[in-house]
Amino acid sequence: MRVRVSLIILIQEKENPVRKRVVRIFSAVNPAPAVLFLWLLAGASFAAGQSAVLKLNALTDAQARAVGVRNVIVMIPDGMGSAHATVGRWYKFAKTGVNRLSFDDLACGMVRTYWSTGLITDSAPAASAMATGFKTSYGYIGLRPAKTAMPGLSELLKGEESTPVASVLEAARLQGRSTGLVVTCEFPHATPAGFSSHYVQRSAMDLLAEQQVYQGLDVVLGGGRRYLDPSARKDKEDLVKVLRDRGYAYVTDRASLLAAKPGKLWGVFAPTAMERDLDRDPRIEPSLTEMTRKALDTLNRNPKGFFLMVEGSQIDWGGHANDPIGTATEILAFDEAVQAVLDFARRDGDTAVLISADHSTGGMSIGTPEIGDMPVARFAEVVLKAKATPTKIAQRLTEGPAPSLDEAKGLIAGLLGISDLKTEEIAALAGPLKERSAKKLELELGHAVSRRVGIGWVFTGHGGEDVTFYCLHPRDLRIGGVIQNTDLAYYSARLLGANLGAVTGRLFAPAGRDFTARGAAVSIDAADPDNPVFQAVKGGHTLRLAVNKNLAELDDRIILLEGVVVCTAAIPGPSVMDPNTWFAPRAAIELLK
Ligand SMILES: [Zn+2]
Repeated sequence: MRVRVSLIILIQEKENPVRKRVVRIFSAVNPAPAVLFLWLLAGASFAAGQSAVLKLNALTDAQARAVGVRNVIVMIPDGMGSAHATVGRWYKFAKTGVNRLSFDDLACGMVRTYWSTGLITDSAPAASAMATGFKTSYGYIGLRPAKTAMPGLSELLKGEESTPVASVLEAARLQGRSTGLVVTCEFPHATPAGFSSHYVQRSAMDLLAEQQVYQGLDVVLGGGRRYLDPSARKDKEDLVKVLRDRGYAYVTDRASLLAAKPGKLWGVFAPTAMERDLDRDPRIEPSLTEMTRKALDTLNRNPKGFFLMVEGSQIDWGGHANDPIGTATEILAFDEAVQAVLDFARRDGDTAVLISADHSTGGMSIGTPEIGDMPVARFAEVVLKAKATPTKIAQRLTEGPAPSLDEAKGLIAGLLGISDLKTEEIAALAGPLKERSAKKLELELGHAVSRRVGIGWVFTGHGGEDVTFYCLHPRDLRIGGVIQNTDLAYYSARLLGANLGAVTGRLFAPAGRDFTARGAAVSIDAADPDNPVFQAVKGGHTLRLAVNKNLAELDDRIILLEGVVVCTAAIPGPSVMDPNTWFAPRAAIELLK
């Protein structure tokens, strides 16, 4: 109680010089009236029992002790800026009559999203920042940056550039907690990979998937079957077999997901990404909420607790497509998943929930040069007519035999609900229809909807402005104010009682340097260029460490490691031969006596 009161005083002092003086006078005489006075001034938010937010680097001993929880759930609405959230909320109101998002009440800060050398981040460095506490380079997954050139970032020590750093998920796993990822993109896509893999290029999804499979996660649910399939993988490895051998239930449709028995679970419901929620066939693909519930159910059986990351992956793709329908319906799907998580967390009483986008997408505005205001009834009328996203409609219009312009107009009227296309809109569709360009068509269709509801878009890339931070803590010990994306990692580590630096030391020892220091002769066997092996020889013993796996081969004995072996060089490529690009769990190095 005393802690809460003093925090409130600090905030009030900052806000109002007159109050500050009054508080000082009261406090000097007797603290009690000052407190009472402040409670009266503080208004509804404090009266409702919300305390001021914490500063991570200034916790009192009591706060540091009380902040720890059993379970941490990080939820990422990829690409959701505040305009997107607002449009999502109005869509929810139009559809259900509920005029609030499930996470509205939890808003407590803004997140600065910039990356290691610029203002406008990509999902890979953003996820890496939220997972590891390091703002990093474009395309980087779970590594320190190649260089830093932004305020507040400390300079890299020589040799530290592009080296792997532990994620909060890995920290939780080493503590014996269960870990899980739930997404609707491909499971090795940038955001989930940022929490569970380490490599210089986000596009190397075959490689990232392999690390995830050997990472010892308990639950992985999403899209991306192709990345496990030997006929589609570049290295021809059968990762489904690996999963089965390691005791995972492997499921590929909604019914088998719902029926899966407790235990390790890997579910992939589409060859690549899953469908947008609005376009989803519920007989095949589960919803984000169903996957999240299943993950909670499975992970919560561990008495030591769990770490779970849930991503609303395709809100971002709605933004890239300048599509209000895809954006809003994906936010609605995310909103429902958050509700399921909050229901769990409040029931559990020992779970913290952190929600933040990685960046915004598309430069969305509510209001345009043509439309200065929009009645909610008109907004509802337009958006509720859409039965499919522009992305799906564009796909339908570009596969199979080419439709005539009239057939295309019919499909657009039926699925998007727009039957009053203007002459210039029809002209704009004709080109992409002829070219059979789904990308250009989805953009034209997205703009057709946007024009009718007063939504504007600046471009199809990411935005560099702050995004909203939402948080639930069972004892209300939340961080907030204007924070950094890296603070999500530091706060998560606090919640878990983990030291990320120590975990990095334990999981990613520099193999070239450390084996050499032990007197071993090191070399790289790249006979199979896609699967190079680090080799260390000492005293008649040979230790072989295959890349991206948690396996050590000591002479002819296989030993399971507590983390995966990482090579940060491009694979295949000449730098693979440099032992200094290899990292392995410290325990692997200690295997060579
Ligand atoms: Zn994006």
